[in-house]
Amino acid sequence: MPTIFTHAVCATAIGHLYPARRLPRRFWVLMALCSMLPDADVLGLFFGIPYGHLLGHRGLTHSLAFAATVGLLCAVLAFRDVRSRVNRAALGCFIAAATASHPLLDALTDGGLGVALFAPFSAGRYFFPWRPIEVSPIGADFFGARGAAVLASEFDWVWLPSGALVLAVWVYRFVRSR
Ligand SMILES: [Zn+2]
Repeated sequence: MPTIFTHAVCATAIGHLYPARRLPRRFWVLMALCSMLPDADVLGLFFGIPYGHLLGHRGLTHSLAFAATVGLLCAVLAFRDVRSRVNRAALGCFIAAATASHPLLDALTDGGLGVALFAPFSAGRYFFPWRPIEVSPIGADFFGARGAAVLASEFDWVWLPSGALVLAVWVYRFVRSR
């Protein structure tokens, strides 16, 4: 995994693509939380669930089906007061995208097992052919040289592109508003 807060940075950038300018605070909170949620599966390691198991690390919670379910649940439960069905669906789709961004980023890392993107329908574990992000070891101390290398790699490959995306959205909106 990239470090947990790097997932939230990516999700925040995705949230800026939402067409409405004003969004409820819970949208941003949920985008960040749901982008980190898939790594809740590391708890399974402490209960003896093997890494490669369907419920192991990078298993079911890292699937597109899980992301879609989280998006649907948020649309139904967290945004049930949003009157427009289209807006509710769109908010749910963005939460699903934030959740799915997690396994997609994991699939760009250079270590661990691949991501069970198509669980529970397939047990296959996948990586992208290009994996520039240094993997963050589970339970790592981020204060050593390894931690610094991981953070530097995440800065280059996630924080900078995320910042560029947010900036591009701001510029686009500024130009359009004139
Ligand atoms: Zn992960």
